[in-house]
Amino acid sequence: MRLAAPLILGAGPAGCAAAIELARAGASPVLIDRSESVGDPLCGGFMSWRTLAQLETLGVDPLTLGGHTVDHLKLFTGDRVAQTPLPHTALGLSRHALDTALRKAALEAGAKLEIDTIRAVVPGLATGQSQEWQAETIFLASGKHDVREQARPRTAGDPALGLRIRLPASSQRRSLIGSAIELHLFRGGYAGIVLQEGGSANICLALRKSALAAAGGDPRRLLEKVAERNGHFADRLGSDWHSAKIETIGAVPYGWIAEDTPHGFFRLGDQAAVIPSLAGEGMSIALASGTMAARYWLQGGAEAAPAYQRAFAARAFPPVQLAKAARSLAETRFGHLAAPALARLAPGFLPRLAEHCRIDAPNPV
Ligand SMILES: Cc1cc2nc3c(=O)[nH]c(=O)nc-3n(C[C@H](O)[C@H](O)[C@H](O)COP(=O)(O)OP(=O)(O)OC[C@H]3O[C@@H](n4cnc5c(N)ncnc54)[C@H](O)[C@@H]3O)c2cc1C
Repeated sequence: MRLAAPLILGAGPAGCAAAIELARAGASPVLIDRSESVGDPLCGGFMSWRTLAQLETLGVDPLTLGGHTVDHLKLFTGDRVAQTPLPHTALGLSRHALDTALRKAALEAGAKLEIDTIRAVVPGLATGQSQEWQAETIFLASGKHDVREQARPRTAGDPALGLRIRLPASSQRRSLIGSAIELHLFRGGYAGIVLQEGGSANICLALRKSALAAAGGDPRRLLEKVAERNGHFADRLGSDWHSAKIETIGAVPYGWIAEDTPHGFFRLGDQAAVIPSLAGEGMSIALASGTMAARYWLQGGAEAAPAYQRAFAARAFPPVQLAKAARSLAETRFGHLAAPALARLAPGFLPRLAEHCRIDAPNPV
């Protein structure tokens, strides 16, 4: 099918943000996603204050989505616990709730949704499972999933592995976690824990792939091993986690940023920049890139793609680099000792770090 309108591959936060911005300006974008129904993608579910502000700009009121208020950070390393307020209020919300609201807003603004799985993409042409899509402008927003011809570089060595388990509401978890975003640092990785709508808990880990191999390739055994060594983490898992589904995603290219692109080809979201997940800023980056790419296209058309990509890379660089450094430190023994000590001795440090790991919202045109 040949399209005159811009084509957006992926109806996650990045693709929907671009669709909303373009449709509001009358550009009739076409969104393509591989699934008709919105799932609950693997994610930590922490929505930063920057994510919330951008959602409002896109016409989605996050407070109507039923999320769980988050106002402080709790840091766990071994037996040590440190606590600090967040600079602004955040939200724990499932990706099902967020993506449903964004898709609805995009369709209401005038975007069209088509269902197809894109197999390969080059500027001007996306090859789907059901047909070929031709368009002068393509926005690549397939997120964590690479598409043939445009795969992001693989991390050498021991790549990052994401693992997520969602647990039902329980009074024990409610009293332990409350309104915190919890960060549990342990050997080889960390876990982020937050309550979401209805009090359910989202437990998301980022580890090295070798940790899974050491657990015989079994994610359940891996979680057991982490719980055996980390009492606070085990308390959050409780006794009802054994029957819950565990999802994994391999080889997350944390720290990668796209610096260039050809005319007519805009990379958005995780296809533009991948911030380490301990920053809890990936969704914000996705929304910012979608909005910014749409604004560049509205001003300069297909030719504006390289200028957009360079400008977005520059904007994403500071928070991504800082989060990368924080992640590297969080994985070391020194970091495990230093982080809670810093939280106690310099109470302003962690809130400042949390603020600097945010991306600036795109400027209005
Ligand atoms: C372990 C982990 C924890 C995280 N925790 C947080 C957190 O707490 N807070 C936060 O802000 N960020 C977090 N992130 C980052 C966040 O999940 C991503 O940055 C964000 O989802 C990127 O949005 P996106 O729109 O680029 O891609 P995605 O959310 O991945 O959406 C991509 C869309 O494209 C569709 N798609 C994919 N491939 C195809 C195809 N071939 N054809 C058609 N459609 C396709 C998918 O169905 C999906 O709808 C985390 C990431 C990881 C790995």
